[in-house]
Amino acid sequence: MSLVLRNVSLNGSVVDISIEGNRFSAIAPHLGGSFDEEFDAKGMLAFPPFYNCHTHVPMVLLRGYADDLELFPWLNEHIWPAEAKLAPEDIYVGTRLACLEMLKSGTVFFNDSYFMSEEIISAAEGMGLRACIGPTWIHFGDAEKCAATAAEHARIRAACQHGEYSSRILVAEAPHAIYTVPEADLREIAERSAHDNSLVHIHLAETETEVNDCQKAHGGLTPVEYIKECGLLNERARLAHAVWLTPHDIELIKESGAVLITNPTSNLKLCSGMFHFKEIDEAGIPFTLGTDGCASNNAHSMFTEMKFAALSAKTQAKDSTAAPAERVFRLATYDGAQAFFPEAGEIASGKLADLMLVNPDQPYFVADYNPISNLVYAGESSCVDTLLCDGRFLMKHREVEGEDEIIEQARRTCNKFRK
Ligand SMILES: [Zn+2]
Repeated sequence: MSLVLRNVSLNGSVVDISIEGNRFSAIAPHLGGSFDEEFDAKGMLAFPPFYNCHTHVPMVLLRGYADDLELFPWLNEHIWPAEAKLAPEDIYVGTRLACLEMLKSGTVFFNDSYFMSEEIISAAEGMGLRACIGPTWIHFGDAEKCAATAAEHARIRAACQHGEYSSRILVAEAPHAIYTVPEADLREIAERSAHDNSLVHIHLAETETEVNDCQKAHGGLTPVEYIKECGLLNERARLAHAVWLTPHDIELIKESGAVLITNPTSNLKLCSGMFHFKEIDEAGIPFTLGTDGCASNNAHSMFTEMKFAALSAKTQAKDSTAAPAERVFRLATYDGAQAFFPEAGEIASGKLADLMLVNPDQPYFVADYNPISNLVYAGESSCVDTLLCDGRFLMKHREVEGEDEIIEQARRTCNKFRK
């Protein structure tokens, strides 16, 4: 399958972009030859799309279900009882709704940990996105549930190893956090990750309470020092939040090659604290951007996330030059791809063909001195006109296949949770 996008604006020049299979094949002002499909992108701006590096997508079904509460009443009285009602078909329907929301806002990848991961994989495969999926390991002393998670993980790990999923799906280990997974399990996960060379996605150093509790329980070790002891701090680690870090933690993370994932909207909404963007960036530690789940954000828009990332970085550092728009845009696009699909995230010949076309016929694009600044500080999902992932159109002129049905099914599913 070959495709050419004609007359597209890329980095200020008008070019044609061709794709062979799932990779960009050529970029030049006028490409000759014949193609299976031609797409006229006149007037459109091409950018790499967004990579959402931390979320729990089925939680879209619980968006707005219980907001503005303290953490434990929120979990005990609302979120956990509601989650107990989720059936596999609900996870599938919810994931499709989240994928639709992500596509409409320019996102082609999500890194997820949740329950019933086979349903999440099936929905992501059908909708055409890239995804890194790990069943959430969460231990409340329930041996039966733990055995079920272990069996689920073994099934998807085997399916992935046997090539039953497309090349767009990665399977990860996803221990929820150091306070919900016992040390023996963390050590076992570390060994399996080394054996499989698989990523480990975990919430870490999200709140000050987590750090204090960890130091009390583990002889003064910080969460970062503790996961190092467990064998989890290495280049395969993908550490969500990482808000509360000591200078020693930062040194250890840098030596390890681990990648951090900042989630500014969730951190602000839950009053967890602010990620030290400028300090981490200056230390040369790789990090990416994610929305977190819909119960703590409440959206999957990387536009909102970029703006909050920039503004919270400036406020945290008391420095308006921190986190400039170009840096934040790269965080949401190229840097996210590097942490999961390093051959994506760039519009260049030979790279995986992920791309978004932005329609600049928007009020906030009329003054177009700096398109990246417009995307980060003024952009909204509605400017994303067309989206490609792995060489395939997932949205054309804002239409996603089957979107009416996806919305209708999800609406019916939400009725189950009405109080
Ligand atoms: Zn999370």
